[in-house]
Amino acid sequence: MSCSSHWEPVIGLEIHVQLNTESKLFSTSPASVHPVPNTSANLVDLAIPGTLPVLNKEALNKAIMFGVAIGASISPTCRFERKSYFYPDLPKGYQITQLANPIVGKGSLDLHVDGDTVKTIGITRAHLEEDAGKSIHDRYEKVTAIDLNRAGTPLLEVVTEPDLNSSSEAAACFRQLHTLVTWLGICDGNLNEGSMRCDANVSVRRHGTQALGNRTEIKNVNSFRFVERAVQYEIDRQISLLEQNETVERETRLYDVERDETRRMRGKEFSDDYRYFPDPDLLPVEVSQDLVRSISQSMPELPSNRRKRYTTYLNLNPAVAALLTRDRATSDYFEAICKVTNNASLVANWVLGNVSSVLNRDAITIEKFSLSPESLGVILRHVDSGEVSDALAKQVFDQVLSQGGSVHDVLDQVKQARISDNSELRELAQTILASHPDQVKQLSEGKSKVLGFLIGQAMKTSHGKADPKKLSEIFIELTST
Ligand code: ADP
Ligand code: MG
Repeated sequence: MSCSSHWEPVIGLEIHVQLNTESKLFSTSPASVHPVPNTSANLVDLAIPGTLPVLNKEALNKAIMFGVAIGASISPTCRFERKSYFYPDLPKGYQITQLANPIVGKGSLDLHVDGDTVKTIGITRAHLEEDAGKSIHDRYEKVTAIDLNRAGTPLLEVVTEPDLNSSSEAAACFRQLHTLVTWLGICDGNLNEGSMRCDANVSVRRHGTQALGNRTEIKNVNSFRFVERAVQYEIDRQISLLEQNETVERETRLYDVERDETRRMRGKEFSDDYRYFPDPDLLPVEVSQDLVRSISQSMPELPSNRRKRYTTYLNLNPAVAALLTRDRATSDYFEAICKVTNNASLVANWVLGNVSSVLNRDAITIEKFSLSPESLGVILRHVDSGEVSDALAKQVFDQVLSQGGSVHDVLDQVKQARISDNSELRELAQTILASHPDQVKQLSEGKSKVLGFLIGQAMKTSHGKADPKKLSEIFIELTST
């Protein structure tokens, strides 16, 4: 029987972020991978002798932007090393990467799990490197094909400290880095296409001990959910080994999505010898303070800052603020509505409720949502002022979405269609009063809160069509004798 409470999981992530630059890290061919193999690779990518790499400034700037966003020190000189290994999809025989002077040094990320700040996670470093090509095993019988379109595309490898202590923290960290790089606009964030890939290093140790346990590394996981599952499987596996007095072997493992388990890929008893040395083809690049300053001035407001603003000035709870800042487009949409109407918690409810249901139903992102924040703002301004009920607002919302038309016209229509006839409202109020004698008694004892309940019941019975303002007057009139 494994007893997980005796053990503390320790996890560090290495995340490859594909930078969305126009051209590759050291060549002029397009960085967006072309579907036809070997059409977006030029002589540099093919490693033809005599060609020389030239650093792509855009990639450097985007890496710096990430560094500024995590409060890291930016290396004043940017150098590159060669990491030598042999693989058919690496025609140069080495990968250009950064070892001694990563462009981004130590920084940190405030981690939120379920909306609350859990803790600050250290980011060890982030460095620039080029991606390799692809081996294709299923295209031809008996031979492997090589596609070099991806060779040389720019990656930013982000390495965290072993500061994560559960599978959900690991997943939250991956998700939050995803939010950050897409927010900054330095990565398209498309997980299905491998724009972000996560290697998870996992170990466990006895609670209260300092020394780190033997770790395994799970390679190339590309979804938040899979990171959580793979890490959890690995934690459980290691605990049960240790409980049986066996040892955890240093090894690289793969996560099998179908079976929901990790499998040994190769051992790591000896560290590989990559024969790193400075790339003599690339001169060190000076990174001036002016450059860092101008990049930080060009950056959008960060999600962490918005979250703080939402909880401090708009009084939203941390979980709501976290959801609203999961991506920049949602947060921008929310803010644009707030310019039209003042009630932030009402707006938040609508964005995370009604709007998000439509997005889910239609499988679209908020960028493709047809109702402008200004129009939704007008609807919600009417709700905030009590002119229309939430239910009626929902009808307007649905109608404008399904049939188009101006929000103002539809609002006018429903306002006219609603029951504002006094005798009809009076009848409705009397029915409600007759069926809630307890509440009527409470009301007569001065418990005025009950009025809201009675109005709610009447709104429900009338399917949101009753005029709430008039109803309230009638209820007061009928019960104040
Ligand atoms: P390597 O040189 O093998 O890549 P690093 O020291 O660069 O190793 O660490 C890689 C990642 O593994 C980092 O994210 C780090 O936090 C994490 N890590 C290191 N040791 C452990 C451990 N014992 N348990 C969990 N994660 C670890
Ligand atoms: Mg490493």
